[in-house]
Amino acid sequence: MRAIVIDAVQAQPEVREVAVPAASAGGVVVRVMATGMCRSDWHVWAGHDDDIAFPHVPGHELAGVVTEVSAEVRHWEVGDRVTVPFVCGCGRCEWCHAGEAQVCPNQQQPGFSHWGSFAEYVALHAADTNLVAIPERVDFTAAASLGCRFATAYRALVGRARITEGEWVTVIGAGGVGLSTVMIARALGGRVVVVDRNPEALAAASDLGADYALLADGTDIPAAVAELTAGGSHVAVDAVGSEKTCADAILSLRRRGRHVQVGLLPPVGGHHPQVPMTRAISWELDLLGTHGMAATDYPGMMALIEQGSLQPQRLIERTVGLDEAAAMLPGFDRAIVAGMTIVDPAR
Ligand SMILES: [Zn+2]
Ligand SMILES: [Zn+2]
Repeated sequence: MRAIVIDAVQAQPEVREVAVPAASAGGVVVRVMATGMCRSDWHVWAGHDDDIAFPHVPGHELAGVVTEVSAEVRHWEVGDRVTVPFVCGCGRCEWCHAGEAQVCPNQQQPGFSHWGSFAEYVALHAADTNLVAIPERVDFTAAASLGCRFATAYRALVGRARITEGEWVTVIGAGGVGLSTVMIARALGGRVVVVDRNPEALAAASDLGADYALLADGTDIPAAVAELTAGGSHVAVDAVGSEKTCADAILSLRRRGRHVQVGLLPPVGGHHPQVPMTRAISWELDLLGTHGMAATDYPGMMALIEQGSLQPQRLIERTVGLDEAAAMLPGFDRAIVAGMTIVDPAR
């Protein structure tokens, strides 16, 4: 099969012939029909993930058709149209059995822990735990666009913040996950204040239904949100992941508000970022983490897509073949397009 192979950290990715993977015990092989490219794939190429074994094939936002099924698999067969969360569970631990594979201690991530979907075929493990059926009315491209940013945003709002109709949501950062959050919040009846440094990103968020767009140009964001929402938002999502954006999101909440941290907030120079805990205590704020979404939680999201009330395909900007994707990957951190790039390995 053809695949995008990275031979070493920051080596030019190459499209070449490699062996088609075999199904592991409990796993399947899927013919990739569409696969999204995101910043995480660039991090793999750049060498920011310590545990990648090179040569490596990236790609983790995929949709396709099952072509091989191992004997242990009970619920899937050849020909099924499927997608997977970017965090796949082992299928054996207490978390997987409880439907919480997104926090499985033995989790697998295609494109990270093993070869991913920038290829004609990809192996997926623990199929009964991780595969998600794609309804007939949802196409492969839309399904591939769910795996990472969209599912993360859905989980943040629905599974974690438990948003209800009419609530105000502050979204900080109008990149892929931020725009997905705006779209989902609106579809669920939320009212949205979006914040970004980039006016074009704000314009895209407004097109997707954000009620207010605030340019982060040094303005006091929490004060501006409090003004627009009569006292602060019910839910805040930091889709950027910096000390400043995290604090702005938390301080934009009203009393008893819920904050979801989506952007990674790693320690800097050995120090954990400062978080305004005094506010969290005195206003009884909920500070929530989120990490992808388990396959068991996909049906609710898929139903909204099938009905047309959620349209992830609106975030897709272009579709390219493997060769073009290989050429694009090293510069993907500087990509200026706001929308998603989908790779079609058959092109
Ligand atoms: Zn597990
Ligand atoms: Zn991704």
